[in-house]
Amino acid sequence: KERHEVINFSPGPAKLPCQVLMQAQKDLTNYNGTGVSVMELSHRSQDFNKILTAAENDLRDLLDIPSNYKVLFLQGGGTGQFSAVACNLMNLREGQTADYFVTGCWSAKAAKEAEKFGKVNYVLPKSNKYTSIPDKSEWNLSPDASYVYYCDNETVHGVEFQFIPDTKGVPLVCDMSSNILTRKFDVNKFGVIFAGAQKNIGCAGCTVVIIREDLIGQQMSNTPTVFCYKTQVGNNSLYNTPPTYSIYIMGLVFRWKKEHGGVEAMEDNSKQKSDMIYKIVNNSSGFFVCPVDKKCRSRTNIPFRIGSQDGCDVLEKKFIDEAAEKGMIQLKGHRSVGGIRVSLYNAVTVKETQYLAEFMEDFLAKHRN
Ligand code: PLP
Repeated sequence: KERHEVINFSPGPAKLPCQVLMQAQKDLTNYNGTGVSVMELSHRSQDFNKILTAAENDLRDLLDIPSNYKVLFLQGGGTGQFSAVACNLMNLREGQTADYFVTGCWSAKAAKEAEKFGKVNYVLPKSNKYTSIPDKSEWNLSPDASYVYYCDNETVHGVEFQFIPDTKGVPLVCDMSSNILTRKFDVNKFGVIFAGAQKNIGCAGCTVVIIREDLIGQQMSNTPTVFCYKTQVGNNSLYNTPPTYSIYIMGLVFRWKKEHGGVEAMEDNSKQKSDMIYKIVNNSSGFFVCPVDKKCRSRTNIPFRIGSQDGCDVLEKKFIDEAAEKGMIQLKGHRSVGGIRVSLYNAVTVKETQYLAEFMEDFLAKHRN
């Protein structure tokens, strides 16, 4: 198949803008007239330093990151940060307790990991359904938490916060792996923000961490050095070899976003695309069933079942197969929830989403009783 014949709705690693790939193709064999591949640049070279600095500056512009926040580009993925956050912040208050909002499988994993390093207080009543975010009246925030943790968008369950939790001054930590750069938000409200690159930022291999300066330096004594925010900040993410190629791709994506209207334009597109799909789901008289509460439906990952609440295997397989025949791939839901999942990250265009929407309308017309 040719690239233009396929629309990749993958939850990650996700589609990258074509312009980025074309540039990467050029730089793969000879970077900017250096005679070496961008992959072969030393992480201590001036050429790489320019890549790193430009990526950081462009991210700062895109998210309007204040000067009292440091930016790190690390390895270890989102999962690495589940541990790093706890190691670096659990000590902020004496009780070594952290509050965790668990709204899906990723925040559940983060909380489980944090239990290795301190006490975890579960803010929300336990549930394994993950289809809503309980009201404030049901929250149980501890009075002495070192930090409060949540996942802004649960990639598997399709649950997205439409607000920033008020923690009354306790540092707020947020996993934005699957929705960073899809809407504007005030960085000042956060202590730490992290995001794996492979969805809205670039290719797999790099994790962006944004940390408020005053939270750096109180890590536990057994914190692994590569995950120590103080060490990595002190070395500008170059304590050890960073994911150089992934940082390079990330820089190209940031530049592409700036050239395409910045976060405001990404937010507009994200709304248009997700509205289009949810409208069909909502008007399908129960043929397409999204289990997530309307108040917290994700704009970037839309899970739904076909035929009934529990899904009809035959119809769901038919949907995936017929979509694939039309070039629309990676629509299968996560194995833990089944059904369909449509991932609409920044590189998926409104036009491509329209194509899927038309397919869904046709499928509905053909198969509805
Ligand atoms: N957090 C969220 C919201 C995710 O979607 C994922 C992966 O998909 C992770 C964390 C884990 O990231 P990684 O695979 O980079 O460790």
